[in-house]
Amino acid sequence: MGYLRLLACWILFFGAASLGSYLVYLYEQVWEREQEYLIKGVATSQAASIERRLARSLSSTYLLKHEVRYNEGRVEGFDQFAEQIIRSTGGISNLQLAPDGVIRYIYPLAGNEKAIGHDLLRDDKRRAEAMLAVDARQLTLAGPFELIQGGVAVIGRNPVFINEGDQEVFWGFASALIYLETLLSFTDLDSLETRGYSYEISRMHPDTGKPETFHSSQKQLGPLTQSHDINVPNSVWTLTVSRPLPERPLELWEGVVMSTLVAALLAFLLAYILKEPQRLKLIVAEKTKQLNDLAFYDVLTGLVNRRLFLQQLEYEIKLLQRTGKKAALMYLDLDDFKKVNDTLGHNAGDQLLIEVANRIKATMRESDIVCRLGGDEYAILMMNVDRAKDCKAIAEKIIKNVRQEMVVENHTLNVSLSIGITLLPEDATNLRELLNNADMALYESKKLGKNQASFFNHSLQAQAVERLRIEQELKIAIENGDLELYYQPIIRLANRQVVMLEALIRWNHPERGLIPPDKFIPVAEQCGLILTIGDWVIEQACARVKRSLEISDPLVPIAINISAKQLANPNFAVDTKQIFNRYGIDPAMIEMEITETTIMENMEEALRQLRLLRNIGCRCSIDDFGTGYSSLAQLKQLPVDALKIDRSFVRDVEHDHHDRQIVEAIIAMAHRLGLSVIAEGVENQTQLDFIDSAGCDLVQGYLFSKPLPYSELEFHELIT
Ligand code: C2E
Ligand code: CA
Ligand code: CA
Repeated sequence: MGYLRLLACWILFFGAASLGSYLVYLYEQVWEREQEYLIKGVATSQAASIERRLARSLSSTYLLKHEVRYNEGRVEGFDQFAEQIIRSTGGISNLQLAPDGVIRYIYPLAGNEKAIGHDLLRDDKRRAEAMLAVDARQLTLAGPFELIQGGVAVIGRNPVFINEGDQEVFWGFASALIYLETLLSFTDLDSLETRGYSYEISRMHPDTGKPETFHSSQKQLGPLTQSHDINVPNSVWTLTVSRPLPERPLELWEGVVMSTLVAALLAFLLAYILKEPQRLKLIVAEKTKQLNDLAFYDVLTGLVNRRLFLQQLEYEIKLLQRTGKKAALMYLDLDDFKKVNDTLGHNAGDQLLIEVANRIKATMRESDIVCRLGGDEYAILMMNVDRAKDCKAIAEKIIKNVRQEMVVENHTLNVSLSIGITLLPEDATNLRELLNNADMALYESKKLGKNQASFFNHSLQAQAVERLRIEQELKIAIENGDLELYYQPIIRLANRQVVMLEALIRWNHPERGLIPPDKFIPVAEQCGLILTIGDWVIEQACARVKRSLEISDPLVPIAINISAKQLANPNFAVDTKQIFNRYGIDPAMIEMEITETTIMENMEEALRQLRLLRNIGCRCSIDDFGTGYSSLAQLKQLPVDALKIDRSFVRDVEHDHHDRQIVEAIIAMAHRLGLSVIAEGVENQTQLDFIDSAGCDLVQGYLFSKPLPYSELEFHELIT
């Protein structure tokens, strides 16, 4: 392409340069022709003018000749006749008659006396011309020559023949002498000379037969000359006129140089014009590349993005089917990334994502494709994996590398990530399935406590299928009213009175019977249904309180379990308050149970929500306390009323000395902070005794009552 372009430019250059030069050359030619034409015009008109003048002057010889013939050779009254002719004709110096070739009569004679008696036929210098006239029997111009009496002149000799009997015999000459100067004075040659012209008048010398210039301008002829014949009687003269060349408007070499320059300019212009599409194409390509990069690469980390990754993955799957090789797909997800983002800001979050990307990349081989799927999720396609064991080792290496301390905006962070691994082609052979597998494996890692890698296996798939089924059925259950709240009494140890009821959800499945919350609440949390369920629970609790008021039942507050997803709604407190208002119940009749893990996961948000809930008049408690990692300092700032010791501690107090210590410590600490303590899952007297002795305020457990439908509750018995 570039070669063709160059060629076109050169062709244009040479073409334009040649054309330009040729045009200049033609122009020069035209100009020269024009000059020649101009001179030619001058030569023609001047020659004609000489010719005319000469002819007129020489016509006098015919008159003279006639007179002689009329007088049959006698000469009478010559002077008067000659004088008459000279006056009427003009331009004649004198007229002569030379009978038998000897000049006998001249008019005017004064100053020409020397010529009388001059025998023309005997004079060597004159004879040739004289004889020419006689032989030709016609007027013949002689000269120009120096006259004996001085001056340069031409003489027209007309041979006169007279009749003697029936014969014509030569009588002599009737001649007219014309001074050259006089002849030329009738032309413009003088004035032309002053205008810079030069000229020559020449003739063929009758004796030598060679050209002879007999009159010329002072200045010599220039290079540009034009000649024109002057027909004189019985001979030809030549007038050559020349004019100095006026300055050329343009020298040829100048024209060539200019043409070359213009051609070069044109060639450059063409090169530019031809290059323009190329240049634009380059720009378009560059922009397209940028767009592609945007379309296929993650702007933040520079890793392959989801789109390109999926394309690659699809391609590799097909390739594997042909080559029989193995590969592995990993999903990686940062643990608790949201916390970093929320506490340190998005900039720090971005820095963290970049650093993690770099560390992952550094751990992998060139041939592996590392992708940022979005958010804090990454994916890796590992090529040529022989065994699952190798895969596991690499996953652990990534976990280890990411786990290393990293400094982001002057904060030292310890981040971890969870990995889900699925193998190709044994786990799946289509893209959708494969992605699902990796997702499930990742979910498994999270479920098992994060910071680890899990492999996909088919039981995970079974679980996933189960989850999906639950989700679908749960939607129907919500619509059909198959959910129900059970209540479990919470008893004050001091007086054994029921002081609160915990609302625990149940699902009355039409085929599978009563389904406990552990089976479907996590699914509901995952798919978002928990929000609908959560609202329903609050409404049910409110309706219960209202109903109790209406039927004058013993009135105790109801504790409800709030999921992290519900707390993520910034308007949660406001929305809840509206429900209270709608049922017209005192918010203090509802206690919000929020697990320690939920609070720890997003401390700041939890704090804000707890304050809002307390502001609207709700009571709040920390559920499942002891399973998280909250410190005393963190606990101190939480605006809560109570703390529920997790069932796992209570269960083991009989046998586990360590758990006993923990329970005692929690109770002491809570009391110091002014919180009441509830022990859940008390199933037997031993546990109750220990809890009691440790100073716990409230208990809840099968020992007193299982969670039951409201109508089956027997609080009155318990109170006694
Ligand atoms: P949780 O909030 O810790 O609820 C206490 C669980 O301990 C209840 O299980 C209860 O039946 C059980 N329990 C009480 N006393 C004993 C005992 O003496 N021995 C034993 N082994 N268990 C006892 P349940 O009803 O199966 O609820 C399980 C979990 O489901 C709850 O744990 C709570 O986290 C969640 N949940 C229940 N209802 C709701 C709800 O309405 N909303 C939300 N978000 N979660 C709920
Ligand atoms: Ca609870
Ligand atoms: Ca609990």
